[in-house]
Amino acid sequence: MSSAQLSPRILDWFAANRRDLPWREPGFPAWGTLVSEFMLQQTPVARVIPRLAEWLERWPTPADLASVPPGEAVRAWANLGYPRRALWLHAAAVEITERHGGVVPHDVDALLALTGVGDYTARAVAAFAYGHRHPVVDTNTRRVIARAVEGNAEPAPPSNVSDLARMERLLPDDLDEAHRFNAGMMELGAIVCTARSPRCDACPLADTCAWRQAGYPEYLGKRKAVQKKYEGSDRHVRGLIMAELRAAHVPVTSAEIETLWADATQRDRALAGLVTDGLAVHRETGYLLP
Ligand code: SF4
Repeated sequence: MSSAQLSPRILDWFAANRRDLPWREPGFPAWGTLVSEFMLQQTPVARVIPRLAEWLERWPTPADLASVPPGEAVRAWANLGYPRRALWLHAAAVEITERHGGVVPHDVDALLALTGVGDYTARAVAAFAYGHRHPVVDTNTRRVIARAVEGNAEPAPPSNVSDLARMERLLPDDLDEAHRFNAGMMELGAIVCTARSPRCDACPLADTCAWRQAGYPEYLGKRKAVQKKYEGSDRHVRGLIMAELRAAHVPVTSAEIETLWADATQRDRALAGLVTDGLAVHRETGYLLP
């Protein structure tokens, strides 16, 4: 399917079906877009929205966040998971304050140079916050392209170069249309062409979708590794320790940490990992946020 076939359908469908999300409101600041993209990297929209609002009220600019210790960012990250993102966001806020006069840069290379900002986030900020024309490719976009354009049930494992080139070929030339096309492809993958149960009867691409026309052939390519179960994993133990550190305003003692998880080997491994990652700091009297 060519860009000329795809884009009008996506743009019309998006205009009628887009969810009202905070980062789509007119005038939403570039800093808010950057924060939301960090939060959305591994966390569902519904959990991000309340946390994002609190975060932007407390730290409305990068300089506001840069002025507090990184541990405050980790504390405010609360239950969003993968808390290293909070440390990276704090580091990015410091870099924006020091290198860019407190203004989130709009240039992709300058964005890529910030801590924790990868290909997706850099282009999402440049495109959604500043209206530049860049292909923005997240996991939802990759799935829609794989199915509708290439006739595969699932995308091949991510590859920045080929993923961006695929989307670039489909992206309209017009700046405003490119912006809405990026958002529309992501939205279609998020709410219609979902990984497990695509709703083809509600899809604007139903009559041209290559995968549908081929009779939904099974995916035979490489799959990404299945994520391990959370319950009982090291991530689970790290989460328990982090919850304790976030709740405390004085160092948490080793004896208190011992009560959190019975398996000493796993507990020690999780705690050592948190210290190595900079999420916990060891002091004479115990452990605390950085
Ligand atoms: S027709 Fe079905 S499989 Fe094809 S893009 Fe739409 S929802 Fe996805």
